[in-house]
Amino acid sequence: MNNNTKERESIEFDILFVGGGPASLSGALHLSNLIKRGKQEKGYGEISIAVIEKGAEIGSHALSGAIMDPCGLRELIPDFESNGFPFEKMVTEDEIYLLTKKGRFRFPIIPPPLRNHGNYIISLYKFVRWLGKIVEDSGVDIFPGFPGVDILYDGDRITGVRTGDKGVDKDGNPRGNFEAGVDIKAKVTVFGEGPRGTLTKQLINRFNLSDGKNPQVYSAGVKEVWEMPEGKVGRGKVIHTMGYPLKSESFGGGFIYDMSNNLLAMGFVAGLDYKDPYLDPHRELQKFKRHPFVASLLEGGKLAHYGAKTIPDGGYFSMPGLSVAGGLIIGDSGGFLNPQRLKGIHLAIKSGMLAAETIHEALLKDDFSEDQMGRFQTLIDNSWIREELYKARNFRQGFKYGFYPGMVMSGIQMATGGRWLKKRLKCNEDHTHMKKILEYYKENFHIPEKDIKFDEKLTFSKLTDVYYSGTKHEKNQPPHLKIADYNICNKTCKEEYGNPCQYFCPANVYEMIEDEESGETFLQLNPENCVHCKTCDIADPYQIITWVPPEGGGGPNYVNL
Ligand code: SF4
Repeated sequence: MNNNTKERESIEFDILFVGGGPASLSGALHLSNLIKRGKQEKGYGEISIAVIEKGAEIGSHALSGAIMDPCGLRELIPDFESNGFPFEKMVTEDEIYLLTKKGRFRFPIIPPPLRNHGNYIISLYKFVRWLGKIVEDSGVDIFPGFPGVDILYDGDRITGVRTGDKGVDKDGNPRGNFEAGVDIKAKVTVFGEGPRGTLTKQLINRFNLSDGKNPQVYSAGVKEVWEMPEGKVGRGKVIHTMGYPLKSESFGGGFIYDMSNNLLAMGFVAGLDYKDPYLDPHRELQKFKRHPFVASLLEGGKLAHYGAKTIPDGGYFSMPGLSVAGGLIIGDSGGFLNPQRLKGIHLAIKSGMLAAETIHEALLKDDFSEDQMGRFQTLIDNSWIREELYKARNFRQGFKYGFYPGMVMSGIQMATGGRWLKKRLKCNEDHTHMKKILEYYKENFHIPEKDIKFDEKLTFSKLTDVYYSGTKHEKNQPPHLKIADYNICNKTCKEEYGNPCQYFCPANVYEMIEDEESGETFLQLNPENCVHCKTCDIADPYQIITWVPPEGGGGPNYVNL
């Protein structure tokens, strides 16, 4: 960065939450409540709490399925139901299908982890906006449009984060509207950046927080919300599917949920530990919608919203160490998600609350050391988080043998409450599973159907879908996808894997373009399309793509997702 810039400001808060999702907001609210109560009992002075969020507004980057188990929210806001809690429908019915190319088989029994009676279908966007307002009203400062780009340290103690500069051109020079990022100092910094958080990744590497654990593994979720004709959306039905269009070697499936105001949510989830270098989660969603069963549900409707996000679904054994001196990791960043139940919001909320309790104790002792922050793990281990996640501890790893063996192993674990497989079943990072083209397709392969024909009524191209995500970025800024070596993309990867970034990115950010003169193809980036799902950072077989936050406020503008 050019040094010919205005001086960097520094501001201080007592506690800083990075990321404005359910975990951070719950943590900030619970801490604010504890302090209010504590002030009367302990007589301590003002404690300042701040939340920074990279999206233009709280909720604009929030996307989930989403079915919420309200147990976490009930602890945070006991009267949430009479407090304007925005939900789409209460779940009235669960259905699970195994899809073949044209047919379907309905499961006669819903396995207990997938029973949703008593749960709420929500839009995470609406939920986070509602919670954000409550948090702000409680006296917490919320700053949307401010991504954390660097962690500040004093030795090995975290002292805050630096937010991103604004007004930098694509060559790294300041534009007329340049504003240097701010150093936000805090006694404790809580990382709730969502899946594959940029700062969390740095933290895990610097402190070896994944040593002796499984690596985090992810799925990519691609979702559309449709406007349906009056009377076509049910009263709270939740449908999950497995099978078509995924091959049986892969983990994943589809979902369709009733929403309010005649909206229908549907999406497709694909495990990123897949083998086929041509697998494309967005294309799987389009194929899913062409299945006669799904197409019949969508008849008469039209696309309203689109988005994509990764899901940290490694479970208990993939959770990294969650505390360092002056820092905690919560929510999706810490792997608080139960892959067997396909749910994480309740765990994110509780993780934020337990972080708040850890911080409250630390404030009382004025001790933010590694040992004191380590109380977070103890609180988790003594809570229902541990109980819930431990039962499903080997769920996701079973699918490394393929979908059906995974289902069988999952069934046995469910029946025995996890006792059948006590020890940690190991797994490898997602990108290590992808096969080279020749290895996967053997000799004389032909490139499989790269794309289905999109009719732009039922099925949509990535570009059309991105339009429905409301994504916008300042064009004249440095690319926020950092490619360590373009030679690998343009030569090695092209030959070995066929540039899988073109397929796994759900927003057409990676394009192989032919040079007219040489006839050679080269990688072109379209970062302005990026919906911040982080798939590329995870799935790239050479691990040469690093996703970093773009200029604050850039990215999707999710509504109803
Ligand atoms: Fe997702 Fe990466 Fe594509 Fe952005 S560039 S949409 S983070 S895969």
